[in-house]
Amino acid sequence: MSNIGGREPALEKNYDDWTEYFDILGEPPYRADQICGWLWKRGVFDVNLMTDFSKKLREKMSETVDFSFPEISGHVKSNDGTKKFLVKMSGGTAVETALLRMGPRLTACVSVQSGCPVGCPFCVTGTVGFERNLTAGEIAGQFIVMERTAGRVINNAVFMGMGEPFLNTEATLGAVKMLNSPKMRGLGIRHITISTAGIIPGIQALAASGLGAGLAVSLHAATDELRSELVPVNSKYPLRDLMSALRGYQRVTGDRITIEYALFKGRNDSLENARELARLLHGLHSYVNLIPGNENGGGYERSSPESVLRFQSVLKSAGFESEIRTARGGEINAACGQLKNPAGGRSRNKT
Ligand code: SF4
Repeated sequence: MSNIGGREPALEKNYDDWTEYFDILGEPPYRADQICGWLWKRGVFDVNLMTDFSKKLREKMSETVDFSFPEISGHVKSNDGTKKFLVKMSGGTAVETALLRMGPRLTACVSVQSGCPVGCPFCVTGTVGFERNLTAGEIAGQFIVMERTAGRVINNAVFMGMGEPFLNTEATLGAVKMLNSPKMRGLGIRHITISTAGIIPGIQALAASGLGAGLAVSLHAATDELRSELVPVNSKYPLRDLMSALRGYQRVTGDRITIEYALFKGRNDSLENARELARLLHGLHSYVNLIPGNENGGGYERSSPESVLRFQSVLKSAGFESEIRTARGGEINAACGQLKNPAGGRSRNKT
């Protein structure tokens, strides 16, 4: 996010930054609690509405801080209650985000990049396009702006929208801290999940951070040959190294890892593919989400319900916990692999 007229963006300041800011102004430390309450708990970014600050202090803050905030410039809603939003950042970059309703709970699916450089061929009609990384505030700000628009509490955040979180690790972990900090949004860490295509340094960084956010890995194939086709980053981080990193992650965190496996007809949905997956995951404490792949063109068709069930039965027999996920938001292109950036060219979404 650019500094407007040299003013620091409010969105990028964490609680400690605000404490320091008010200290320099000669204000008491509780001012940091007040401003974080306005910004992160109430979603108010208009400094003039922050009535517990004096007019003089508000003027000073306006002079020194840029209070611009991501804006929703459009949304569509699907029959299952999923909403897709177009969120514009200051400077004009636009990303898509989705708000998924599962029973009484709401989950925000936020983007970490505008576009994605990974290039999975099944992701949004095989299109290409990467504009830029988002900042920590821009990522966390998507959650706040959706919550403000929904007018109710959002229970979960998944970093599963446009882009690869661990090609933007610092901002991703910064956003997790902003959402999780009790002084800021205060979202429970167990309600935050980062989904990666398997970028090993990022997985290691998450483990080392000690944050405790959930980890999901989009695997989609259990052999290097097939996976390098479906998830090209596999050529750089092949399965042997990835599995070793996941075991390392588990040793450090003790956490179960979610494995995402999108099923495409005739590509990766055979019984042999299922057996390969069971062999690969042997010894890893995991939970497998089977996702009937979304049809985004490029020759990738969704597996039939029978194939998905057969695939799952192999995993069950091998003792794995798994779930067949219902595609949500399909008819508004808000499902996995369907988010794109209508303002800044084309981009992809993690499945
Ligand atoms: S599936 Fe995820 S990692 Fe692959 S291109 Fe799409 S957004 Fe990027």
